[in-house]
Amino acid sequence: MGDHRRSAACLAVGSELLGGDKLDRNSLTVSRALAGLGLAMTEKRVVGDDVEAIAGAVGDLVARHDLVVVTGGLGPTADDVTRDAVARALGRAIEHDPAVAGWIRERYAAQGREMPVHAPSMARVVAGSRPLPNLRGAAPGLLVELGDRVLAVLPGPPWEMVEMLERDVLPVVASWDPGARRLSRTLLVGGVFESDVEQRVRPLYERFGRDDVSILASYGVVRLVLWAAGDGPAAMDRLGEMERAFSERLGNDLAGVDLTGLAEAAVVGLRRRGERLATAESCTGGLVSARLTDVPGASEVFVGGVVAYSNEVKELELEVPLATLVGHGAVSEAVARAMAEGARRRLAADWGVAITGIAGPTGGTEDKPVGLVHWAVAGPDGVAAAHRVFPGDRSVVREWSCNSALDLLRRRLAGLG
Ligand code: AMP
Ligand code: MG
Repeated sequence: MGDHRRSAACLAVGSELLGGDKLDRNSLTVSRALAGLGLAMTEKRVVGDDVEAIAGAVGDLVARHDLVVVTGGLGPTADDVTRDAVARALGRAIEHDPAVAGWIRERYAAQGREMPVHAPSMARVVAGSRPLPNLRGAAPGLLVELGDRVLAVLPGPPWEMVEMLERDVLPVVASWDPGARRLSRTLLVGGVFESDVEQRVRPLYERFGRDDVSILASYGVVRLVLWAAGDGPAAMDRLGEMERAFSERLGNDLAGVDLTGLAEAAVVGLRRRGERLATAESCTGGLVSARLTDVPGASEVFVGGVVAYSNEVKELELEVPLATLVGHGAVSEAVARAMAEGARRRLAADWGVAITGIAGPTGGTEDKPVGLVHWAVAGPDGVAAAHRVFPGDRSVVREWSCNSALDLLRRRLAGLG
C-alpha cells in the first residue's frame, strides 16, 4: 500500500453535540483505539443532523484520510439522516437490504417487542457497502471500502459504537501495512509539573528523537507517550529501551505504565498489597470514589466512602473532633488527617484517603484562599498529609485535588513515604 503515513478522521453527527450540554465522546474512544494500532487521528469534526452538512463533511474527509469513522444519526427517526448523507457524498444509491431487515425483525422478536413502524428504515443501506450488525442496539452500521481507504459509519450510542468499532473496524486497520504503523507506550507520572518532566527527560530526546515522545499534562498527572515505528519485535525492543531510559529519569514519580490514570495506579497498589481503601471527601464530593470505581475490579480493594461536605457529617460520620473543626477550621491539615483516619476506622479499611478544600469561586479568605486544599492518607503505619493552593476554577481545583490525593496514596502504597 501507499508509503505515506496513514491518517484517520472522525466525524460525530448529532445536533445535540453542538449545543451547550453534550460533548462528542465517541471520537475520544475511536482515537484511543486507533492509537493502539499505531494509526493517528489527525482531524475530527462535529456536525448537526443535516444531510447537506454531513454529506459535505464525509466527502471532504474521505478525500484526505485513509480511515474515516462517522458516528451517530443511524437510528429510525426523522432526524437520523447519516445514511442518506453518506449515499449522497459517495454518489451512490440507497437500497433495501432484506438480510438487514431480517436482523432488525429478529431483534424485536427476541425481545418480545412490537417492531416500531419506522424500524424498517434501518434496513436501507448504501449501495456497495457492507452492513454491520449491531449486537447492542437496533441500528446497523456500515462499512464502505473506497480503494485502499475505508469509511465506517457507526451508531451514536457509545456502548453500541465501541462494540462495532472493535469487531468490524479495528481488524481492518490492523491488517494494514505495518510499515506505516506505530506502537506506543504511556508512562503515567504523578505529583510533578509538566515542565519538570520535560527538564528531566530532555537529554533523552537526542538519543530517541523528539518526534517519538509526547508529553501531555492534566492537573496533577503527566502522561509521557513513547512511540516506535512499526509493530514487530524491533518496535517492541525499541519501546522497551525507551521505557527503561525514561523510567530511570522519572524515578519514584513514575506511577505506572499504560494505566488509565492515578486511580488505576492506586487500585494496582492496593491489590498488590491485598489491602482495602475507604475515602472521605469534602470539596471533591465523591470524585475520588468515582475515579476508583471507574477501574474494573475496584470492588476488590475499594470499600466505599463518605461525602462529608458539612461539618456535621465530618463530625458524626467520620468522628472528626468538634474541637478540631472549630479550632482549625474545616479546611485544615488537622481535619484532613482526622477525616482520613475516620474513614479508615469507620469503614474498616486498611487505608483512608481524605480531601478538604475550597474549590471556589467563593468561600476564600486571606488566610485560606480559593484553591487551598488539604489532603491526607491514613494507613497501617500512620498518616501523611499535604496541601497546596491550586490554580483554576472549581472543576480544575477538584481535578488537581483528586489527582494529588491519589498520588500520595499510590506513593504510600509503594512504601515511598
Ligand atoms: P444517534 O445514533 O445519533 O441517534 O445517537 C443516539 C445517542 O447516542 C445520542 O442521543 C447521544 O446521547 C449518543 N451519542 C451520539 N453521538 C455521540 C457522541 N459522538 N458522543 C457521545 N454520545 C453520543
Ligand atoms: Mg442523533
